[in-house]
Amino acid sequence: MKDSIRWDRSFDVVVAGSGASGMSAALTAHFEGLEVLIVEKAARIGGSTAVSGGAVWLPLNADAAGAGHPDSYEEVWEYLSHTVGDASPADMKRAFLDAGPAMYDYMVSRGAIKLAARTYSPDYYSDLPGAAMGGRSLDPVEFDGRTLGARFRELRDPLKEFLVLGGMMVNINDVYHLLGASRSLKSFLHGGLLVLRYWTDRLRGYHRGTRLLLGNALAAQLFHSVLKHGLPYWLESPICGIHQDGDGRVLGVAVKRQGAVINIRARKGVVVATGGFPWNETLRSKHYPKPTGPWSMAPRDNEGQGIALALAAGAAMGDAHVSPAFWAPVSLLERKEGGPVRYPHLVWDRAKPGLIAVDASGKRFVNESASYHEFVKAMYGANPASPAIPAYLICDHGFIEKWGLGLALPGGRPRRHLIDAGYLIRGDSLEDLARRLNLDAAVLSETVKRYNDMAQNGEDLDFGKGSTAYNRYLGAPGHLPNPCLGPVVRPPFYAVRVVAGDIGTACGVSTNEHAQALTADGKVIPGLYVVGNDMQSVMGGAYPAPGITLGPGLTFGWIAGRHLARAASHQHQ
Ligand SMILES: Cc1cc2nc3c(=O)[nH]c(=O)nc-3n(C[C@H](O)[C@H](O)[C@H](O)COP(=O)(O)OP(=O)(O)OC[C@H]3O[C@@H](n4cnc5c(N)ncnc54)[C@H](O)[C@@H]3O)c2cc1C
Repeated sequence: MKDSIRWDRSFDVVVAGSGASGMSAALTAHFEGLEVLIVEKAARIGGSTAVSGGAVWLPLNADAAGAGHPDSYEEVWEYLSHTVGDASPADMKRAFLDAGPAMYDYMVSRGAIKLAARTYSPDYYSDLPGAAMGGRSLDPVEFDGRTLGARFRELRDPLKEFLVLGGMMVNINDVYHLLGASRSLKSFLHGGLLVLRYWTDRLRGYHRGTRLLLGNALAAQLFHSVLKHGLPYWLESPICGIHQDGDGRVLGVAVKRQGAVINIRARKGVVVATGGFPWNETLRSKHYPKPTGPWSMAPRDNEGQGIALALAAGAAMGDAHVSPAFWAPVSLLERKEGGPVRYPHLVWDRAKPGLIAVDASGKRFVNESASYHEFVKAMYGANPASPAIPAYLICDHGFIEKWGLGLALPGGRPRRHLIDAGYLIRGDSLEDLARRLNLDAAVLSETVKRYNDMAQNGEDLDFGKGSTAYNRYLGAPGHLPNPCLGPVVRPPFYAVRVVAGDIGTACGVSTNEHAQALTADGKVIPGLYVVGNDMQSVMGGAYPAPGITLGPGLTFGWIAGRHLARAASHQHQ
């Protein structure tokens, strides 16, 4: 059959989206001998991946045992059964567990990624059977942005809120050194070298520091491989259509480029990897619980276009998930210009000793050191009975000086601007703070008194703050008896409001274990692959461990790339 579309260009594979999942699919297809084009809507490469923490959960990876954590299929399976269960089909979970380690070896051996297994990093439900204390999550190894040459500017920048001195990336280890620089020579030298490297970069004309970490390093590694192997990529070129023949087979895509719509033939198939729908208000209000709002930490380009196009091509949304998104409590600094600054309370402040979270009744409702996903689930859980969106994170003077609170930095840094902007609420006493937050002062005082009593004994009888290995991992090192519990006593007191934000969506297009899009009655749409956050999450909207979106994203990208290489070309000329 001859199709009637006038093709402007022709490739074996077109990949839409340049996050981890898209670049994984593109590189794999290229390594397997296919001619690949990446089309990216944004002006820069990397999507959410480039602004993320970069943790990659790949159980059974080759480096876990070396990191001190030998693992077994049975244990991982047991853990997934307890955390994900029926929220995701067994064959999808198996595909992930089988392919993840193979993907890792494949990518590492081709120099596409370089990760290091964490020596200690408990899975988020560390008290459940099968949980590991390390090895399953890997971090991207530091990447030198200078290696990208002039293309460094084409890599998406990390979130400004996590940069020091306006452009220097730091990881948690660096933060501890920077905070301890006045007390330890080792930390002073560590911090000094970081700052020196940073200013050298700036003097050399780089728009930010070139020592790349976290998700920015992962995106940079993949992008470097894309450049090294000469894969074509088009920026500012969103896909806006999927072409099919009369039988539904995908023939190619329409792409907006330089003011025109062009048709690109994809002889083997199309990979949709546009990063989910956190910024699509219609889909959000359809799939998210209420209340919801523009609270995502993902880049605004992630508007669900890939999902909408896949649905228009006959695909179905997945179902049975337990959460439509991967949640994170987010505080918002309203600005006169440029929209609010968002701060995700992921792994730094909540678990530290001396912070509590209360709802509108002034009562605690959650283990504050639970994962960000669990924290927001608790906000939604509490909200119908007692409004918890927003909730309030509350601490005292000693806490904010030591750890900071959201955008308020520790160590005597100025915070007046945050108070004036209404981001940080300061009260001379607990009663004063309660009044400013519109909370019942007597209830808040009683909540704090009870918490302080429990902190004294090191046991949170109400919500178990600091009761699991994961909680304690994020607490204050050396703070005993419970690294997550400390009293809230020293005025002035501070609070920030947090809303139910997310770091990306979890529900997406239904696929089989080859990442092929499926129709509502489970039929494959030939030539259409969906990966990353556009794909119904293999975790079914559960969040078992650090890296459970990037691990599957890289893995199903790889699966799609290899499946495409084995697929027969369609015959249309
Ligand atoms: C602050 C933060 C921290 C996080 N930390 C972690 C972590 O440590 N570990 C983890 O696993 N996950 C983490 N996440 C989540 C993770 O970043 C995402 O789940 C993951 O990056 C999604 O990858 P992706 O390839 O699906 O999408 P993305 O990386 O978002 O890439 C999608 C790309 O598609 C592009 N696009 C959109 N529409 C179109 C279109 N029409 N045509 C072409 N291109 C289009 C976008 O511009 C984007 O570049 C974090 C997220 C945030 C925000």
